[in-house]
Amino acid sequence: MTTTTATKPDTSTTAAWPYAPAPEKTEVEIAPRYHLFINNSFTPPKSKKSRYFNTINPANENTLAEIAQAGPADVNIAVEAAHAALPKWKRLKPTERAKYLFRIARRIQERSRELAILETMDGGKPIKESRDVDLPLVAQQFFYYAGWADKLKFAFPGLSPTPVGVCAQIIPWNFPLLMASWKIAPALACGNTVILKPAETTSLTALRLAEIFREVDLPPGVVNIITGPGSTGEALANHPKIDKLAFTGSTVVGKQLARIAAQRNIKISLELGGKSPNLIFDDASIDQAIEGVIAGIYFNQGHVCCAGSRLFVQESILPEVIAKLDHRLKSLRLGNPLDKNTDIGAINSKPQLKTINQYLKSGRNEGAILHETNGSIIPPKGYWCKPCYFTEVQPSHTIAREEIFGPVLAVMSFRTPEEAITRANNTPYGLAAGIWSDKGAKIFNLATKLKAGVVWCNTYNKFDAASPFGGYKESGFHREGGIHGLRNYVNLT
Ligand code: NAD
Ligand code: MN
Repeated sequence: MTTTTATKPDTSTTAAWPYAPAPEKTEVEIAPRYHLFINNSFTPPKSKKSRYFNTINPANENTLAEIAQAGPADVNIAVEAAHAALPKWKRLKPTERAKYLFRIARRIQERSRELAILETMDGGKPIKESRDVDLPLVAQQFFYYAGWADKLKFAFPGLSPTPVGVCAQIIPWNFPLLMASWKIAPALACGNTVILKPAETTSLTALRLAEIFREVDLPPGVVNIITGPGSTGEALANHPKIDKLAFTGSTVVGKQLARIAAQRNIKISLELGGKSPNLIFDDASIDQAIEGVIAGIYFNQGHVCCAGSRLFVQESILPEVIAKLDHRLKSLRLGNPLDKNTDIGAINSKPQLKTINQYLKSGRNEGAILHETNGSIIPPKGYWCKPCYFTEVQPSHTIAREEIFGPVLAVMSFRTPEEAITRANNTPYGLAAGIWSDKGAKIFNLATKLKAGVVWCNTYNKFDAASPFGGYKESGFHREGGIHGLRNYVNLT
């Protein structure tokens, strides 16, 4: 009789499921250098202070292209262009304005693969997210607001909506094209003209959108795109000829812009950071909740303003939830964002990675326990952070209070629904929240007590152009999306 002494097969999730690489193969053209988009032409910057800066692929640190940095003189030219285009654009028949928006939406759909690839290359997010989440929502945003363009008086019964005028819009790097669409589509639908400033690490897709504006013959000056760092945004915000400022980004910058808007008495909408709670009750479907927790914090590497970064679990189910969370976490694949199997892409920039690492350090120093159990191999180049979570977190810990903007979850527990609400609301932010429970009445009751702009029930991070989004407290004010989103871009008489 022979005995085999084969080693026990490795059944850990990552080892048992080796995936062959499935990289996106479509080639996307990237020019060596990109100019500013003013009056429907791509023009080199004129400011004395202007120069070009590199945009890189954060997954491999390769330079993708040079981007123009708009100085104050360029900002002025762009604002003047938007100003000059305004009278004709706002007098255009609303059904005609709608046609432009519909054309833009259709063209985005036609070019969506190209845009998704570029979004992934420039920003580091997985292709399956840019392709299946960002781009469909971008097109939907234009379709949705196209539909409102000739129906504005029905959005505001008994009132006469008129355009606000020249809108300065400053957006962040976490959802570059989606944030551009959130800002541009309602502004145009309401008859305003726009100057958009994308974030410095992710300008490429906004400039591709500019190509689309030209393709659909949008009148020159209606949308202008000026690239550059924070100083470009500052010059834009301070320009005397803007009538409205719309900003998404950090609370620090949001506060500065609020001051500027208050002094000038112009309209402003702010969509800032968050530290959103995700609450799991003992009557929840736990497997479903785990999927929601994973989507809530690890989607887009946690670079999500409404990320469910504070997980509150009812004490009786804490061990089960942690075990299942850990198991699911191990199955996440970190790596090449252009690979269709990738769940976790690259951190958007070196400074952002540094910020996240500082939070990981502070969490450990303050006494929480870091679980880095995901077994993915970190690629040799680029900016990477493994998805992870902390247990033994106290509400006073920095990682439980401040927005990390990375794939880092803080797990805490509670005993009663009252305690859950108190702890969930114990934050200067108020952007989003999640509730996981099997009991409808309980969900309705708790949702009204959570001070958050969006409360997801038995789901998380679900978006729709028809649904308003925005925060309370330090998460900002006013809503984007839906009928509410129109209010930012009209004066009512
Ligand atoms: P940021 O607020 O500095 O940048 C957002 C945008 O504002 C960019 O386009 C930037 O160029 C511009 N900007 C920067 N300074 C400006 C100024 N003084 N005047 C006008 N515009 C200015 O955000 P960041 O530095 O890229 O990220 C820092 C933190 O902000 C992140 O760690 C995260 O916590 C938070 N954040 C939140 C969101 C969100 O969606 N709410 C998005 C990005 C970043
Ligand atoms: Mn980049």
